Amino acid sequence: MKCKVNTACIGCGYCVKVCPRVFHTNRRGTVHALEEPIPDGTESAVIQAKEHCPTQAIEMIG
Ligand code: SF4
Repeated sequence: MKCKVNTACIGCGYCVKVCPRVFHTNRRGTVHALEEPIPDGTESAVIQAKEHCPTQAIEMIG
């Protein structure tokens, strides 16, 4: 499974705090997600980030 952050991200930092292995702040102050499939053991943290993202910017793929 992969995930991606869309343009609705406002850079609140919640997902980075919950799952720093997958989400990283970029130079524009918003967030991008790992391009490759999410690492073993991070799925529940990614789902938590997705469910609590204030702008629904996190999308699951696959
Ligand atoms: S939780 Fe959502 S709005 Fe906040 S930094 Fe992550 S993707 Fe962006």
